[in-house]
Amino acid sequence: MAHYDYVIVGGGIAGVSCAETLSYCAHDSRSVLVSASPVVKVATRFKQVTKVLEEFDVEEQSLDDIAKRIGSVGVLLDQAVSISHTERIVRLASGVALNYGKLCLCTGGKPKLIARNNPYVIGIRDTETVQEFQKRLQDATRVIIVGNGGIATEMVSELENVDVVWVVKHKSISATFVDAGAAEFFLKSWSEKRQQRNDEIQLNKPSARLKYTESSNSSLPSTTAGSALGPDWAGNILMSGKFYTAGSLQIEYECEIAGILTPDECLVKNLPAWENGKYPVYAELTNGKIIGCDFIVSATGVIPNVDLVIGCMPADGIAVDGGIKVNENMESILEDVFVAGDACTCAWETAPHWIQMRLWTQARQMGAYAARSMIAKTTHQSVHLDFAFELFAHITKFFGFKVVLLGLFNGQGLEKEYEILLRMTVGVEYIKIIVKNGKVQGAILIGDSDLEETFENLILNGTDVARYGEDLLNPDIDIEDYFD
Ligand code: FAD
Repeated sequence: MAHYDYVIVGGGIAGVSCAETLSYCAHDSRSVLVSASPVVKVATRFKQVTKVLEEFDVEEQSLDDIAKRIGSVGVLLDQAVSISHTERIVRLASGVALNYGKLCLCTGGKPKLIARNNPYVIGIRDTETVQEFQKRLQDATRVIIVGNGGIATEMVSELENVDVVWVVKHKSISATFVDAGAAEFFLKSWSEKRQQRNDEIQLNKPSARLKYTESSNSSLPSTTAGSALGPDWAGNILMSGKFYTAGSLQIEYECEIAGILTPDECLVKNLPAWENGKYPVYAELTNGKIIGCDFIVSATGVIPNVDLVIGCMPADGIAVDGGIKVNENMESILEDVFVAGDACTCAWETAPHWIQMRLWTQARQMGAYAARSMIAKTTHQSVHLDFAFELFAHITKFFGFKVVLLGLFNGQGLEKEYEILLRMTVGVEYIKIIVKNGKVQGAILIGDSDLEETFENLILNGTDVARYGEDLLNPDIDIEDYFD
């Protein structure tokens, strides 16, 4: 049986980042990356925006390409099917067994679907599901999007030429990331742009927005077990329905899907006659409404994919959210089994301004840090928690606006005992700062404010800002000068 010092399972951002770090820092070791998919996700064009805020593109690469990139780490196209922790063996679907010194599980997440095996419900996870979504959209006049996180928000902001019904279980949209005020800001800006677009359509003007299909290598084989998509997935693909108008947006707040009905089943439910049979599928909402559509997108998040450890992980090794618990070295309660990315749940006492969110940045950081932890353990050295885990920082784009989230951006864990400083200009910017005991705890920066570095420093340094009061957000005062 082949022995490897390090075995990595999973070819998503976390697994590839772990493999890259091993190839730099442990090139004399025998390491292998096992990927169930012939296509892996790689972080490219990395840019450190501030001390902790980072931006990068996510590209699909074939296993052959990645093998060249990670040099000393071998690659295997195979699926890990079981682990024997006592024997230190990972068994693969092909029958091959690998003996490991240290194992890093980067098996990602599985979409939470509101209904499985319903042909009218699709989940968005990888390139294949996006292609399916685009295909169906071409003939669609109305779609229902269920979910209130990043995926749903990006879809709603990009969809055109189709009516959208957005079903959210909270009182405001995009609640996973932003507060109700920011949600209003997005919706007002969206309505203005949509009105403008409809006017352009009336005047027969072409869309100013150019879009391309995802820049994946079409010669790559398709996969049923691909990695999650990369950051700009929604902006890079054409999301257009059948209409010649820009399409409307109806939001159903504080409700969920209670049932999915066929047109025949709707007859029994007294659906208004004019809609009867117009759509191939109907969603019954918990607020009592029944809404027809061409198809439903289930964008209700992911659950950690921990299938591989079922049978070998004691129950207390799994967190309430379903992830594999890891300590500050990314090691699970099974000795020498490390976990990184969406599959893990951070169970150490984290820094006051850091929170775990299943995002590509954290997957990349965790993968690299898990590699360094494994090496340190092998070489009996100590490793310090990476600086990236000091402050939560995320950069994304919603409704065409740059969105930067820092620290406890929604007052997470502060029990509502904090002050809010707010600055907003509709269509331009929405800045919200969370202050507790005179210190900045978190920030939501929407628009091109360029304030990210300043607020990152204020949070990290624990600067007392009490004496500046509302001047902290006074646009006429350059607050960076205050603190230089
Ligand atoms: P994954 O990317 O899920 O990779 C896991 C890999 O493990 C897969 O390749 C899988 O095939 C493989 N695998 C699983 N089990 C086995 C096995 N037994 N044997 C071998 N291989 C196995 N995050 C952001 O920060 N910004 C965004 O804009 C954003 N948009 C998103 C949009 C969508 C539609 C989705 C679904 C997610 C988005 N995310 C976004 C989240 C982000 O993609 C994930 O947090 C990140 O990809 C997690 O990386 P990972 O490596 O842990 O897991």
